[in-house]
Amino acid sequence: MSEDYNCMPMHSHDKHYYDGDWQAPSGADTIEVLSSATEQVVGRVPRGSAEDVDHAVKAARRAFGSWSQVPVEERAQWLEKLAAALKPRVPQIAEAISHEVGTAIGYSKKVQAEFPVMMVGMNARFIRNAKLEEELGNSLVVKEPVGVVGCITPWNYPLHQVVCKIGPALAAGCTVVLKPAEAAPLSAFMLAEAAHEIGLPAGVLNIVSGDGPVVGEAIVTHSGVDMVSFTGSLRAGRRVAALAGDDIKKVCLELGGKSAFIVLDDAPFDKAVPAGVNNCMQNSGQTCSAWTRMLVPRVRHDEAVELAKAQLAKLTLGDPFDPDTRLGPLSSARQREIVLGYIEKGRAEGATLVVGGGRPASLPTGYYVEPTIFSNVSPSMTIAQEEIFGPVLSVIPYDTEAEAIRITNDSIYGLAGGVWSGTKERAMAVARQLRTGQVDVNGGRYNPLAPFGGYKKSGVGREIGPLALDEFFQLKAIQQ
Ligand code: NAD
Repeated sequence: MSEDYNCMPMHSHDKHYYDGDWQAPSGADTIEVLSSATEQVVGRVPRGSAEDVDHAVKAARRAFGSWSQVPVEERAQWLEKLAAALKPRVPQIAEAISHEVGTAIGYSKKVQAEFPVMMVGMNARFIRNAKLEEELGNSLVVKEPVGVVGCITPWNYPLHQVVCKIGPALAAGCTVVLKPAEAAPLSAFMLAEAAHEIGLPAGVLNIVSGDGPVVGEAIVTHSGVDMVSFTGSLRAGRRVAALAGDDIKKVCLELGGKSAFIVLDDAPFDKAVPAGVNNCMQNSGQTCSAWTRMLVPRVRHDEAVELAKAQLAKLTLGDPFDPDTRLGPLSSARQREIVLGYIEKGRAEGATLVVGGGRPASLPTGYYVEPTIFSNVSPSMTIAQEEIFGPVLSVIPYDTEAEAIRITNDSIYGLAGGVWSGTKERAMAVARQLRTGQVDVNGGRYNPLAPFGGYKKSGVGREIGPLALDEFFQLKAIQQ
């Protein structure tokens, strides 16, 4: 552990944030937040109850009437003020998330802290530019905010996932009750501090921490919640969708993925393969959109594996607070066990273990797993079908372009993916045939304006960019 961070202050929160203030929880139970690198407690937040949720939802309902009527320009200014209040908290946010999730500190600062803070402010621009009324024949079609939105988020990009929801929701004129992930709730509390500091009107943003089955389900089933925006696993997403469906609530679901990267036979392998490895290993593989399946032409399989292995050797595994580290530990002991279980399955089902495959002997403390590559993976193997959520790449050989497309689409998921070819035209033609919400061709850069979300069991609805606003509107047609 680097010395600077050894004495990280304990983040202790004994209250929820709702109705414009810090509120004592109904019970005394707390959640301990562990550092993924030291396994020590670095924070504590309340383990909320249905009663806490009820208070928060009522506050959000009271605030909805006035917040939904706040002029667009004023709401845009609130989002800019919130972004400005978060900005000085970037180092603190990055540090907390590196502890919670294990994200290497450099990446954490940019991707876990600076990026979501910038995204809060971007929503000001999106709402200013949004077309909220349209005449169609004798109708005036008006976009109106859905109402009170329940937001439930995962731990892997904790502030980013929160901002993907609360940014457009608040911009659209909705009020929010948020439950952050148990394993990584600290940045949500920093967000509440920032909201409080700028004097965001009471009840507009409410935060209750706690467990999924208790606080999460209380939010989903509360009659005062109009819409649920959920990001997390397919397992919990199914439960959330069923409960919300019973109540005819609108849902947005951002679930898991098993994204594929097709390296076509005319691609520059020396560029494409390293890019694929980097993508798969982002945040130590704890990324929903990670390209965990690399499809390569069978005749060039071994060459691709050698290039992948060489690239992986450049991604140093270690203390997330060491600036040279690229890959930190996994978020929790449970996550480590899940990932090791999948590695074992890969071996048992006959995939070739190229590198990695266990816990690193040099890092006995912390939830580390060696970055791992399997080659000669067949598409039906468990490691080619199920989301692992750790640093594990499966290299799958294919014979023809049509087969590569078929293998890619042979997944219950459809979140992201990539294609690399010698020509943009060929890459585009393949990209159009993939049943997935995003595709990057020939190393196309991440775009914060692009909608993000899944086909198939990767979810329902879209987040990020100006189009995300539409999730938080409903349409009213007025005939005149
Ligand atoms: P998870 O489903 O265990 O938990 C996500 C959130 O749901 C947490 O806040 C949890 O407390 C809550 N929850 C759990 N059970 C619930 C229930 N019954 N009712 C209501 N809420 C409940 O997921 P996780 O382990 O935190 O996150 C990893 C998963 O999230 C992966 O599958 C990953 O692919 C997915 N994810 C998807 C996206 C996306 O944009 N599509 C982004 C990030 C993560």
